[in-house]
Amino acid sequence: MAVAHGYPDTDIEQILITQEQIAERTAEMAQRIGERYSDTPEDLILIGVLKGAVMFMTDLSRALPIPNQMEFMAISSYGSSTSSSGVVRILKDLDRDIAGRDVLIVEDIIDSGLTLTWLMKNLATRSPRSLEVVTLLRKPAAVSLPVQVSDVGFDIENAFVIGYGLDCAERYRDLPFVARLNPEVYSG
Ligand code: 5GP
Ligand code: MG
Ligand code: MG
Repeated sequence: MAVAHGYPDTDIEQILITQEQIAERTAEMAQRIGERYSDTPEDLILIGVLKGAVMFMTDLSRALPIPNQMEFMAISSYGSSTSSSGVVRILKDLDRDIAGRDVLIVEDIIDSGLTLTWLMKNLATRSPRSLEVVTLLRKPAAVSLPVQVSDVGFDIENAFVIGYGLDCAERYRDLPFVARLNPEVYSG
């Protein structure tokens, strides 16, 4: 099925996960998560890292069968545009205290896991009641991470992907599917 998006067809090498597959998997994950948190005393707090996690976070939030609240952080990870270094600076912190609350970090993609490892440590110091991670996508390098990831949407190949929140120089986040980007786009 062709989806109109306005980008040159040659930018997209291959669609890896369709809009329908994302929706179906998100609904499944939301059910599982909802069951795990069904008897929490207060609303679940979702924490998304801007901007990549926004699409997944808003869809997951609406699919969850339990009350949940959305919070966002913006961080800058030093490194190239296609990989991260684990050296992180907070550009926008949470607006609120998470002490005593059940917190679920919502990730777009985990590759080296350096960003997530840093974020887990940082949020753990704020004494949440619980702290878990859900990610839509996971690359091969992240499979053996020490960080516990409770739910993974899709394990994908080791390629640079775009769409559904994921960008290349701020472009392609608006695509409703996840695709492998034509390497010619980022190698210039
Ligand atoms: P990590 O710290 O796990 O290596 O990388 C996590 C962050 O790097 C993600 O949140 C995302 O911003 C970026 N990233 C990693 N892999 C990809 C990819 O294939 N495509 C895009 N667009 N960003 C990626
Ligand atoms: Mg992320
Ligand atoms: Mg990016």
